[in-house]
Amino acid sequence: MAQVLRWMEATWPCGRPVRIRWTPTLGPKGKYSAQTQRSGTGMLITMSRRRNRLYEIAIDTIIHEYVHCHQWGPARAELLQPDDHPPAFGALYWEILDRFHHQGGDEEASEY
Ligand SMILES: [Zn+2]
Repeated sequence: MAQVLRWMEATWPCGRPVRIRWTPTLGPKGKYSAQTQRSGTGMLITMSRRRNRLYEIAIDTIIHEYVHCHQWGPARAELLQPDDHPPAFGALYWEILDRFHHQGGDEEASEY
């Protein structure tokens, strides 16, 4: 996941450092897959091991959370709801997914 994150940071810079942290479970009854929040001047993505056991699912999750990092920034991270997914969110999410799965992004990511 760290390679995929660095690939996204290089290709779609969000202007601030992003870190990943793994935790066994996340949220009430462990129902959250991941959470993105401010961490100093950067962003922190917390990933649930339970909800991201499969590689394909973890990829989808990290892309989703990175798009939040890209759209929010530290200041907005504390103002917006986790469920904030406007059309611009979907556009970038799709662009990254398509690049990863259909345009060699998975191989590009392996270089990071
Ligand atoms: Zn989201």
